[in-house]
Amino acid sequence: MSHQRIELLAPLTGLIVPLETVPDPVFAQKMVGDGIAIDPTSNVLVAPAAGKVKQLHASQHAITLQTVEGIELLLHIGLDTVMLKGEGFRAQVKEGDTVRAGQPLIEFDAELIMQRGKSIVTELVITNGDKVAAYLPASGFARAGLTPALVLDLIVADDAASTAAVAVDAVVSDPVKVPNRTGLHARPAAVLANAAKTYKSDIKLLRGADEGNAKSVVGIMGLEVKYADEIKVKASGPDAQAAVKALVELIRSGCGEDCGPGVPPPAPKPPIKQVVKPHSSDPNVLTGVSASPGLAVGQIFQVRQDVIEVRETGANAQVERRRLDDALKEARQQLEALKAEIEDAAKAEIFAAHQELLADPDLLDIAISGISNGKSAGFAWRQAFTTYADKLARLQNEILAGRANDIRDVGRRVLRLLAGVKEAELVVPDNAILIAEELTPSDTASLDRTKVLGFATTGGGATSHVAILARSLNIPAICGIEDSVLQLPNGVPVILDGTKGTLRRNPSDAEIQQIRDKQAAQAEKRAEEQASAHHPAITRDGVRIEVVANIGGLDEAVQGVQLGSEGVGLLRSEFLYLERTDAPTEAEQSQIYTDIAKALGTERTLVIRTLDVGGDKPLPYLPLPAEENPFLGVRGIRLCLAAPEILRTQLRAILRAAPFARLHIMFPMIASLDEVREAKAILAEEKAALGVTAEIKFGIMVEVPSTAVMSEIFAREVDFFSIGTNDLTQYTLAMDRGHPKLAKQADALHPGVLRLIAMTVKGAHAQGKWVGVCGGIASDPLAVPVLLGIGVDELSVSVPAIPSIKALVRKLNRADCLKLANEVLQLGTATEVRARLAALAD
Ligand code: PEP
Ligand code: MG
Repeated sequence: MSHQRIELLAPLTGLIVPLETVPDPVFAQKMVGDGIAIDPTSNVLVAPAAGKVKQLHASQHAITLQTVEGIELLLHIGLDTVMLKGEGFRAQVKEGDTVRAGQPLIEFDAELIMQRGKSIVTELVITNGDKVAAYLPASGFARAGLTPALVLDLIVADDAASTAAVAVDAVVSDPVKVPNRTGLHARPAAVLANAAKTYKSDIKLLRGADEGNAKSVVGIMGLEVKYADEIKVKASGPDAQAAVKALVELIRSGCGEDCGPGVPPPAPKPPIKQVVKPHSSDPNVLTGVSASPGLAVGQIFQVRQDVIEVRETGANAQVERRRLDDALKEARQQLEALKAEIEDAAKAEIFAAHQELLADPDLLDIAISGISNGKSAGFAWRQAFTTYADKLARLQNEILAGRANDIRDVGRRVLRLLAGVKEAELVVPDNAILIAEELTPSDTASLDRTKVLGFATTGGGATSHVAILARSLNIPAICGIEDSVLQLPNGVPVILDGTKGTLRRNPSDAEIQQIRDKQAAQAEKRAEEQASAHHPAITRDGVRIEVVANIGGLDEAVQGVQLGSEGVGLLRSEFLYLERTDAPTEAEQSQIYTDIAKALGTERTLVIRTLDVGGDKPLPYLPLPAEENPFLGVRGIRLCLAAPEILRTQLRAILRAAPFARLHIMFPMIASLDEVREAKAILAEEKAALGVTAEIKFGIMVEVPSTAVMSEIFAREVDFFSIGTNDLTQYTLAMDRGHPKLAKQADALHPGVLRLIAMTVKGAHAQGKWVGVCGGIASDPLAVPVLLGIGVDELSVSVPAIPSIKALVRKLNRADCLKLANEVLQLGTATEVRARLAALAD
């Protein structure tokens, strides 16, 4: 046998009294167990040691903790207080919670308890006394969470002692390879931290020489663990072995992310922070990165973050701790309210993540230790969040570095509460273009859209939460703009082009006027077109053309219907998940397809294109191998057939939406009939497995010349075609669709492309199949007459273009269009085609 000594801190501030003197025989005669009592002057019961909440009494007047050493502590507030049935008690923890020494457990109303004739003398009793060799109670005045009130000599069996010794020496796992494609970013870090918190042991993640607290999201993110990095789990404490085993398994399994064998290996590098900022050669144009598209003409309004003053020295540790806890609680409630204001659930998650940061043990540890060292709650909290924000901001990984802004945001929210200052209300002038080093997600979510036309920040990037919110709120925005923007005085007129990522300062009055006139004329025309948007698009000689929408999500589906769309010709399903860092589940996908289907109703066609990633469309959660020529590599259908589980999951999710939709499924990037047959077989299998009997049309995108040339052969095996002219142009002309120097030449009105469109239509019509065009030229008014002349049956256009394209079709005559098409198909260059069409449009 050997002994181990542990100290239990006072659970309340007050006078320590011997248990025997308590006026209750149950405690005084130690029927429950030995311990101490305290006659309190404070009213927040705190944990005497680190441990887990084993039991919280329904009346919230008593709580049992199990310490890391397995000792059970009963904390009983007052005497006979069970009779109050919870009145006057407010638990701060719940059963199963892991608590730190000094952490508040139950807050109580001492006055009320006394008014009801009850004593507030509180007991701290060990209920499994068989593990205790000796009780060494302290005496005198004690401070809650600070003064040792009772020292215990524990009985440790020799073999247990040796085990304990091993545990104290720490258990370290073998290296584990991280399978997550984007490393341990916020989401898997949260899963891992939550799992680690269920163990009593102290747990660290080791990456090379660095280590981070495995119970802290910011601690894990701060390690910047990348795909295939080897990390170790180290634990010390009573359940170290079990913790290491479970956490290693969790890491191997991807911490809740799908990292299965079907998922292709990742690109070698994570997104690297843009260090060199883009710079324009025109001194009047400042350049940044497009964060949210759109054009705005307005005046500069510089936003400077107010400095929140806090005292350095605290009153006393307990008071400061209480203030911090109150502020954290209040901040949590504010975030709850903010979440409720944001309709888009995915965006609301940003604030849910902020709520989690409020309970992050690493942040709290720094703050609490600052408080214990005599600092005020505000000072200690600021120290905590700035330390972590600065640490994350220095990381190379752009996604993780972007989260520094989130920590500052939530940190300042709590700091304002501690300093008792309200968020300074921004008095923004009309037509404001906000300029700031950084805007926080909270700032962005609460912008006054009637006054703020756009914003530009010197920090951040396209993947930042601010950029995501700006897009969802439809505010043109630029991130990472040149620092000199901060020197522009308020009121300077500017034109912000969110699409190009440029800010033109001091545009001439004529330039501004020109843009405003253009906007006014367009608005007038748009109003007219919108007035007739819900009428069908029938040419003057009676040919009906279906005008449908290209969409990337539910919002656009709804907007499309409002703007007269007759359905969806292209749901770019990959767009639903571009802002996610983890793979969507089948249920999540199914929900969104069903929502979109319901928004359209069963009268409107819904064409869902299966995942089309690769080339210029990377998915954060599905990094692709570095390829010499990604546009010619494993993209679109090739990727899906190489990783069939991804496709099958998506197809099942789509099929589950079948009862709500006039459903069409379309496969992208088809180059050979083998791909069509394979995709069809997979679809048939999933359909049969789910017992779906509804008729679902099977279509393909015509984006590769081989498919256009062989369209009649393909048409025998599919129900419809949709021509993706963006890709068809790039593959026909051998010009990268995103190449800045080739942008002008990579023109879908090139006669070579038009001839392929014509071949596609001819082959399809020969087999009685319909053809749509969903590439960019379907939305181009110049191209529409030619497409009609070629015989295209459906135009799938960007949502805002729906009313104008419908209005244009109504002005055309199909017979004239046919002549025009025959004419332009004989021309030699895209320039000639454009010139001919422009002359017609004038
Ligand atoms: C196209 O290639 O024209 C098309 C519509 O598909 P995406 O632009 O999504 O590649
Ligand atoms: Mg395409």
